[in-house]
Amino acid sequence: MNNIVIAKFGGSSLASSEQFRKVKDIVFGNENRRYVVPSAPGKRFSKDYKITDLLYLCHQHAKNDIPFEDVFKLIEERYTSLAKELDVEIDLKKHLDEIKTKIADGASADYTASRGEYLNGLILAGYLGYTFVDAAEVIRFKTNGALDLEATQKLVEERMNGIERAVVPGFYGATPNGTIKTFSRGGSDVTGAILARCLHADLYENWTDVSGFLMADPNIVENPKPIEIVTYKELRELSYMGARVLHEESIFPIRDVCIPINIRNTNRPEDKGTLIVADDGESQNYSGAITGIAGKKDFVVITIQKMLLNSEQGFCRKLLSILESHDVSFENMPSGIDSVSLVIEDTQLEDKLEDILEEIKKHCNPDSIEVSPNMALIATVGKGMARAKGVASKVFKGLAEADVNIRMINQGSSEINIIIGVENDEFEKAFKAIYKAFEN
Ligand code: ASP
Repeated sequence: MNNIVIAKFGGSSLASSEQFRKVKDIVFGNENRRYVVPSAPGKRFSKDYKITDLLYLCHQHAKNDIPFEDVFKLIEERYTSLAKELDVEIDLKKHLDEIKTKIADGASADYTASRGEYLNGLILAGYLGYTFVDAAEVIRFKTNGALDLEATQKLVEERMNGIERAVVPGFYGATPNGTIKTFSRGGSDVTGAILARCLHADLYENWTDVSGFLMADPNIVENPKPIEIVTYKELRELSYMGARVLHEESIFPIRDVCIPINIRNTNRPEDKGTLIVADDGESQNYSGAITGIAGKKDFVVITIQKMLLNSEQGFCRKLLSILESHDVSFENMPSGIDSVSLVIEDTQLEDKLEDILEEIKKHCNPDSIEVSPNMALIATVGKGMARAKGVASKVFKGLAEADVNIRMINQGSSEINIIIGVENDEFEKAFKAIYKAFEN
């Protein structure tokens, strides 16, 4: 144990001085919370603006020679009142003037957007009494835009040497010549993960406005249960199918070093949240056979039939090279003895479908091709299902009882999910039925 916890706070956790106070209580509630990563201030209420959005807007305006002073004023006001209400002594005017001048002089979108985290980091560091460490000094990108983890590791070790407690703004870093570069939107999550790795943290806490992941989408299922513990792999399956809380790239920096991530709720710090653990990690707490359900609509399924397909060599290669030549990727490829189906996102096919079908006919000589549009996929995910009996039967019984017609079945070879395909119209009904089947 290194007694180091990285605590990352999202935009809604730092949207107002009231939220900053909650953050302070949380940070001071555990002396191991030594390195804090803030996002830029988010929305205080539903019609409010996120600072990052306003900054991108300033950049767009400046680029198109449209005055951006009015938008910038909103940003100035947010930070000025935060510093004032929190009693933080900081020369904000100097920073804000410098940023404004740089935007007017044509600063990049990345530089402009990154200032949201930068300023919030300065205020938070002052408020907590922590050292401010600019992310540009420690998060290193290669000139081609990819993260340079090795260089970052070295810089973090050097810069943090002797610094007991620090605030490092999320979302950005710099290339070797100092040019500021950001991750994609929501990227402060990634900064937190990188620091957790480089500082050999015991835990990466990600504080947000929900108490972790839920077993199902609350817009479809009423009051779904929270997920207490989930493995990296399960999370990948669930988030790919639409469950969102954490930036997808946050897992990669810490996966091989097995640092757990705890998603927590700043507004309900008493909740345990969701713990994301290594794939072979602490599974003794694992309860029940499934972890969660996630799904997506709007797929097209192309089913190709051909007698003796199982003994024909190179069939799938030909099929997939046709997709490749059209820049189309597939989601799933369930197969039978004499048939194979390709499940493809609707949006990828738009004006390509006709040509693809023609080429399949020409090069693969199938007996028939059937196209089923408007299909939805639902994944029932659970690491435990490889060991537990009766998981599939619960899924199918639940669907039969709800009178849902299953159009496709696929169990990923990792044996941590069962994917079923239904018509878009039956998506919600099927989703609810599967959740109900596992409710108790
Ligand atoms: N502020 C950035 C965004 O809104 C990054 C983040 O919040 O993680 O995307």
